[in-house]
Amino acid sequence: MAAKAAARQALCLLLVGSSTPAIGEEAWRELKGKHFVIYYANNGRSARDTLNAAEKYYKTITRDLGFTRHDSFWLWEKRVSIRLFESREAFAANNAAPDWAVGAANHDKREISGVASEASFIDGVLPHEMAHLMFREFMGLGDDVPIWLNEGVAMWEEAGRRKEARDATVRLARANRLIPLRKLMAIDVRKSDDKELVTAFYAESIALVGYLIE
Ligand SMILES: [Zn+2]
Repeated sequence: MAAKAAARQALCLLLVGSSTPAIGEEAWRELKGKHFVIYYANNGRSARDTLNAAEKYYKTITRDLGFTRHDSFWLWEKRVSIRLFESREAFAANNAAPDWAVGAANHDKREISGVASEASFIDGVLPHEMAHLMFREFMGLGDDVPIWLNEGVAMWEEAGRRKEARDATVRLARANRLIPLRKLMAIDVRKSDDKELVTAFYAESIALVGYLIE
């Protein structure tokens, strides 16, 4: 369960620079949608499912974040790439990723990659990384966004996170263990080994983003 907990919290596996796909370039097939181009090896059905999910998330994220006037944003050559691997092994061979990872994003290449058959890719990594990319590009602030806001927005879009965050913040409040707002805004949680603090940080960030959105 520890590995799963780590995966749930450390979803942001950002890859920098370009990696050469281990599968020969010519072997990748393409499925083009309105805002996305899916690259896949064999499984056309999972490519279509991923494209449908991504287009659906595109609508909900633009709506949640009030970006609807930008809905012509990721068209044509601005489409975002989603590269699908058919197994964790293929994904790992292609990315210097820890073995729990089922997805990653490269903001410079505007590419999200992952293991299509993993539920946590479609329900978690995909909306999470899409929310990061959309927030980043629509706001135009690059990396200059506080961590609580950046992660809060991304996690708000993952399946199941909202209730989880609500329950956790209620528990923290009852135990009088909420992180004060001033501290929440300033922590760099990536540098913390304090599991309880990290858990509280994410739960409160999601709840706070939800409060702002709703
Ligand atoms: Zn993230």
